[in-house]
Amino acid sequence: MEITETRVSPVEKATGRLKGFASITFDNVFVVRGIRIIEGDEGLFIAMPNRKTEHRCPACSAWNVFHARFCSRCGKEVAGVPEENKKEDNAKNYHDIAHPVSNEFREYIQTRVLEAYNTQLKNPTAPTAGSNSIAQ
Ligand SMILES: [Zn+2]
Repeated sequence: MEITETRVSPVEKATGRLKGFASITFDNVFVVRGIRIIEGDEGLFIAMPNRKTEHRCPACSAWNVFHARFCSRCGKEVAGVPEENKKEDNAKNYHDIAHPVSNEFREYIQTRVLEAYNTQLKNPTAPTAGSNSIAQ
């Protein structure tokens, strides 16, 4: 499987760790959008698209979306949000929707996305870029 197209949108005036978004096309037939480009302590990395979850259903162990009252798999009533999950940025509240299975493929995707991101920063007049007011 190969990436046939990579599009990036740097966040303008990025002050936080989120530096941009990316979408990639595989083999000209499958697109994954909502990949985030994040600045970590050891440089840029990508985070795959994810969605907010609440907690596992006690009956069937399915993950249910935030604020769901009934399990989306078995229909049983789901208990309230656990106290530790109420914090908005708790990583436990998020699960990847699509992600590479192997480390090799993760590296491949990350390299391609970050290359496209760096190219975009160096060439802010390219069609998908906004103004050249990007920090750093
Ligand atoms: Zn369930």
